[in-house]
Amino acid sequence: MKKLFAVIGDPIAHSMSPSMHNDLFYYYGIDAHYHALHVKRGDLKRAVDGLRAINISGFNVTVPHKIEILSLLDRVDPLAKAIGAVNTVVNEDGQLVGYNTDGEGSVKGIMNKIPDLHNQNILIIGAGGAAKAIYFTLSSIGVKNIDVTNRTREKAEALVAECPYKVNSQIWTRNDVEERLGEYDIIVQTTSIGMEPDIECQPISLHNLKENSFVSDIIYNPLETKLLRFAKEKGAHTQNGIDMFVLQGALSFKKWTGIFPDQTRMEKMVLKQLGGQEC
Ligand code: NAP
Repeated sequence: MKKLFAVIGDPIAHSMSPSMHNDLFYYYGIDAHYHALHVKRGDLKRAVDGLRAINISGFNVTVPHKIEILSLLDRVDPLAKAIGAVNTVVNEDGQLVGYNTDGEGSVKGIMNKIPDLHNQNILIIGAGGAAKAIYFTLSSIGVKNIDVTNRTREKAEALVAECPYKVNSQIWTRNDVEERLGEYDIIVQTTSIGMEPDIECQPISLHNLKENSFVSDIIYNPLETKLLRFAKEKGAHTQNGIDMFVLQGALSFKKWTGIFPDQTRMEKMVLKQLGGQEC
C-alpha cells in the first residue's frame, strides 16, 4: 500500500516540502506520497489523533506546532527534547517518535563548507526557535566558543542557560557585538530580519567583519539578504538558508526511508519553486 507522509502547519499552502519529498519518492522508486495539511492552532491534538488512526508513516511539523507536538508523541529524541521542538515525526512500529533535524541541517550545511568546527569562534544572531536548535546542536558536537546577540537579552540568557551541553558563551548587546565582530570566524544569522518584504533590513552592521570569515543566513527568501550582500563585499564567504532547508529535509527523508537523498537534486527543486538562480 502507498505510504503517506505529510507536513502540518499554519500557514502551509506555500510549503516547498511536498514537491521536494514527492520528487525524492519518485526518484528513488518509493511508493509514497507527501501532502501539506493545514492544521490550525488549537486543532493539533485532533490532527495527531487522526494521523495515528490512519497509521501515517511520518510527518514534518512546522510553525506554530513545533513545541506543542512534544506532549502528543510517544517518544522524543534527547536532542529534540533538550531543544524543546520537534520538526520530524517517524512512525516506528505504531509509536510516534519526534526528532529535530533543523539544528543538524544547519550545522551540516556549515560543515559542508568548514569541516572542522572545533576551533571556531562562532556568533549566533537571534535567540528564537531556530537559534536554539543550532546553538544546542553546535554545543553537542563541541566547539570552542558560541556567543549570542539578540534584541531581547533575556531570551538569549535563557537559551544559554537551558543548553545541556556545556560550551563557552557570552551574551552581547548589538553595539558590543558590532565592535567585536572581527573576533568571529563564523556568524550564523537566525532572526527573521531581512526576509521578504523587509529586504532592506539588517540585524547588525558588519563594518568590523573579518575578511575570510564565514557568514550563514538561514533566511532563503530572498536568496541573498542584505546582510549576505554586505558580507560578500567585505570578503567573507557566505551561505543562504537553502542549505539548511534542504538538509533538514534530507535528514527527515533519511529517518523515514533509510536513504540520505541527493542534496543537489533537492536544491534544484527548491530553487525552481522559489523562482531563483542556482547558488
Ligand atoms: P522565532 O522563534 O520567532 O525567533 C525570531 C527571532 O528573530 C528572535 O531572535 C527575535 O528576537 C528576532 N526578531 C524578530 N523580529 C525582530 C526585529 N524586528 N528586530 C530584532 N530581532 C527580531 O523564529 P524562528 O523559528 O527561530 O525563525 C527565524 C527565521 O529563521 C525565520 O526567518 C525563518 O523563516 C527562518 N528559518 C529558516 C529555516 C531554514 O530551513 N532555512 C528553518 C527555520 C527557520 P526577540 O527574541 O527579541 O523577539
